[in-house]
Amino acid sequence: MTLARRNAPGTMRPSDLLIPTPAGLWCPPADVYIDPVRPVARALITHGHSDHARAGHGAVLATRETLAIMALRYGEGFTAQRQEAVPGETVRIGEVEFTFVPAGHVLGSAQIVVECGGLRIVASGDYKRERDPTCAGFEPVPCDIFITEATFGLPVFRHPPAHAEVGKLLESVRLFPERTHIVGAYSLGKAQRVMALIREAGYDRPLYLHGAMEKLTEFYISEGAQLGEVRKVVAAERKTLGGEIVICPPSAIQDLWARKFPDPVTSFASGWMRIRARARQKGVELPLIVSDHADWDDLQATIRETGAGEIWVTHGEADALVHWCTSVGLRARPLHLVGYGDEGEAEAAVEGADAVPV
Ligand SMILES: [Zn+2]
Ligand SMILES: [Zn+2]
Repeated sequence: MTLARRNAPGTMRPSDLLIPTPAGLWCPPADVYIDPVRPVARALITHGHSDHARAGHGAVLATRETLAIMALRYGEGFTAQRQEAVPGETVRIGEVEFTFVPAGHVLGSAQIVVECGGLRIVASGDYKRERDPTCAGFEPVPCDIFITEATFGLPVFRHPPAHAEVGKLLESVRLFPERTHIVGAYSLGKAQRVMALIREAGYDRPLYLHGAMEKLTEFYISEGAQLGEVRKVVAAERKTLGGEIVICPPSAIQDLWARKFPDPVTSFASGWMRIRARARQKGVELPLIVSDHADWDDLQATIRETGAGEIWVTHGEADALVHWCTSVGLRARPLHLVGYGDEGEAEAAVEGADAVPV
């Protein structure tokens, strides 16, 4: 997407346009917050993960998919007023123009372009550059200031191709045809991406799903995700699922729930699986390095592609990324925003609420 630059540069100072506050990134001339972690009058939300999308705001501006995901997770009353942001279309609030542009992170995820007085700042939210069959790809937007996360902002984090990691899973299924493969994956995004990649690899048996993922997975399917036949795990039938693939929230792989399957192989699809100690500590037998966040190389490549002269780092390995930015001649600073994570803890807290009520 090429956003035309309409204004002459130079009349607005960055610190007048976006300010880090305890509630989140605040845009004073429009009086809106981006991904606020506390209830505010007016929120702009980048995507549906629970550390970014919270209930209780007076009004929410987000993509159609993100609004739908918030309603699925929190109920229709998650906000008093909602407004749909159409990707690529500009919404003017006060003096400020906001444009949502795909971020490639999960279904509906968007960067938010903030423009006023000739200054353009892009708040990217969470993003990745690797192809994801379940969501629109990241589109770099030229800007003056690029705001980035740094969840995997260390040189150790270089994600291998996701399809190759899913290939390891399918190879294990071939090697152990009597065992159930239990794959932990976050309920929003990762689970559906893993299922879509399994289908792309040609696997055509039914996939079995933990109840906590049913609503979001049905939403993905209704939005066109090609997930093939998906069946909910019936507790009484777990013993009969030898040789099958079961997708569940990460917290469930160590549960009693998981031990009722025949000789289960426990797997976990996460960027953190790059760290062997993390996999061991979680009792993961088959770690799969599949991440919905940019790795070290993609953070750098993205920063360069935006052409921004200044980088603000919201959360994650901010110091390392800021250091790299300054080493290549870019201005950079950490924003020290609190309340955002790697999806792990925050998502685990909301995953119980994703279950279909019975
Ligand atoms: Zn996220
Ligand atoms: Zn996040």
